[in-house]
Amino acid sequence: VSKAWARGSTSQWRRLRARVLQANLLENQGQCQVALPEVCTGQADTVHHTQGRAVTGDDPKYLVATCRACNLSIGEPKHSSPPHRTVSQW
Ligand SMILES: [Zn+2]
Repeated sequence: VSKAWARGSTSQWRRLRARVLQANLLENQGQCQVALPEVCTGQADTVHHTQGRAVTGDDPKYLVATCRACNLSIGEPKHSSPPHRTVSQW
């Protein structure tokens, strides 16, 4: 099932993304909805999964139109400190 989903989702996702961008164009003049300081390029041309695609799938409720710079910046895993592990047992 997962393979078929992955293959089938491509065109579906493209259509969904186009719809989100179109709605953003009408409502927000196409402005990036994340607008990270010193990162944002202003014009939304891509769509970000706010909760992570693995969690929400492609639910439009969790999609936000962003510029590519913001999307990349948010999407990047934190590249500093590795997770701090507490010693739970001796
Ligand atoms: Zn931006």
